Amino acid sequence: MHKLLTDSPGEKMLLLGNEAIARGAIEAGVAFATTYPGTPSSEISLNLFQISNESDLYFEYSTNEKVALEVAAAAANSGVRTFCMMKHVGMNVAADPLMTLAYVGVKAGLVILTADDPFMFSSQNEQDNRYYGKLSGVPILEPSSVEEAREMTIAAFDLSEQLGEPVILRTTTRINHSSAFVALGTIQPRNTKGDFTKDPFNLVAVPAVSRRLHVRLLENWAKARSIAETSVFNFIEGEGSWGIVCSGVSYNYVSDAIHELGIQNKTRILRLGLTHPTPPGRVKDFLTGCEKVLVVEEGEPFLEETVMAFAQKAELTVPIAGKDETLFSRLYEFDPTMVRQVIATYFGVDDTPSQVPDLSDIPEIPQRPPNLCAGCSHRATYYAVKKAAEGMETIFPTDIGCYTLGFLPPLSMGDFVICMGSSVSTSCGFSKATGKQVIGFIGDSTFFHSGLTGLVNAVYNNHNFTLVILDNGTTAMTGHQPHPGVDMANFNRSGYGRISIEAVVRAIGVEHVSVIKPYKVKKSIEAVKAAIEHKGVSVVISQEMCTLYARSLKKLNVRAFQVTDKCKNHRDCINEIGCPAFFLEGERVQIDPNACVGCAVCAQICPENAITPVKDKKAG
Ligand code: SF4
Ligand code: SF4
Repeated sequence: MHKLLTDSPGEKMLLLGNEAIARGAIEAGVAFATTYPGTPSSEISLNLFQISNESDLYFEYSTNEKVALEVAAAAANSGVRTFCMMKHVGMNVAADPLMTLAYVGVKAGLVILTADDPFMFSSQNEQDNRYYGKLSGVPILEPSSVEEAREMTIAAFDLSEQLGEPVILRTTTRINHSSAFVALGTIQPRNTKGDFTKDPFNLVAVPAVSRRLHVRLLENWAKARSIAETSVFNFIEGEGSWGIVCSGVSYNYVSDAIHELGIQNKTRILRLGLTHPTPPGRVKDFLTGCEKVLVVEEGEPFLEETVMAFAQKAELTVPIAGKDETLFSRLYEFDPTMVRQVIATYFGVDDTPSQVPDLSDIPEIPQRPPNLCAGCSHRATYYAVKKAAEGMETIFPTDIGCYTLGFLPPLSMGDFVICMGSSVSTSCGFSKATGKQVIGFIGDSTFFHSGLTGLVNAVYNNHNFTLVILDNGTTAMTGHQPHPGVDMANFNRSGYGRISIEAVVRAIGVEHVSVIKPYKVKKSIEAVKAAIEHKGVSVVISQEMCTLYARSLKKLNVRAFQVTDKCKNHRDCINEIGCPAFFLEGERVQIDPNACVGCAVCAQICPENAITPVKDKKAG
């Protein structure tokens, strides 16, 4: 049985933040879950995906976040508790349905999880999604710990039903990926059978209906504000005239800091967990007793601006600060030391840093630049494209996935990326605006996510570029989740469809379509050349399973390669493809047999035929 289905309330279990959230959803009786995978949210969906195999929970990996939220909106409006998960940038994709779903509302709890990523550990920006709550009028809950993540997930479902609105549960990487002992609660029974009652004058967002629904949304927002005034998640602790307002993970740093600085008797903390709507009464009461106030929050000055506005409205003259050149930055993650230093500076307290342990005898961790894995088929595809386009002035728009790493030397394939699916549409723009040769790259999962519409646009508007679809049979970057092109038998699941990228591309009307096996270097170069020569939109589908995924499915037949005496040491292999299995021993190129997966690409490009399989050495 999946550990998150353990039915023993009170038992303590060591859980990752994302597991605690999944457990919270299970305890809340969630019956329907949708997602598009994205770090740092991925483990929530992975756990629910596994649980759906052992229970009547419906779970789906949707093609993108907009689709995930629309599917979820229908389920929640059929009376089924629904969870919709995504990473922060996914909310941009889901924003279209979100804005109107807030008007239409829900019949059963709908919680939308956004996992924000300050410092961009695995993201293209560090947007603060609390503004989506403000923009849509939807309440936001922000947990400060792993334990609270479980508790708040349950509370979010209740709040959603109380208001008839979706609720945003906003986490950050530090909460998603921390572990703690969590006391399990009771699992509520799941209501999996929904029913939809037709009510077009409240559920069909035509202008006349929406004008009325907007009024309802604002009434709901006022109701949510009064709930926030008494919410257990918004509390004041400590005493004194120095005030600190905080939310999320920052609350922990603040608690540690005021103890380390010895100012707990002088400092009161307003911890906000239901951060939107921010409760004006509670904030005003808090400010009234303060001589000066510091707002501690990662990301944007979301609470700071609100608190300042409340103070102004209440005609309070207390100094309030937060984001400032001398205090907190809008950049990156906070850490305990930095928070303590800023608190000390702001309140004029001596900060004697705690003794740092002497780590001088610990060897430094070797620097490892990000790189495609040894034998990754993307490297072979990029090599083929590079050779095919040699001598041409070419622009390479790329997309979001492992293959983005191809922008690094020696491959240097990737000139522009903004968001998922953008490689296709920006290829349209670059080719029209510059008239140059354009070759765009997109992954298989990303193609289904949002590349398809760009390709339809390209065919319809008769653009001129080549799109290379890097089909490695999985959503590799976030941990090998399935997508509509994946054989679900790999997950021991039946009853799914499977969509052929080639058939889709041909059906759209792309005239020149070729499918390559990138480990066959010569043939691949020829196919890419032919695609480039085609006038109009051409597509090359490069099919080879992700090596890590293939290994996990036991489909990787490894035969390591070696560099023989024929090597003339001109290092074409390193300079052209830079596989991480290569290393230098003295001046000689060698291959690490434990890293090499035997793709044979280096052997095909070595002009001396100096790279050969290691005889009789098979590894798994
Ligand atoms: S995880 Fe897979 S796709 Fe990503 S770099 Fe490694 S081998 Fe390539
Ligand atoms: S065969 Fe060559 S390119 Fe392929 S994994 Fe081994 S060393 Fe790397």
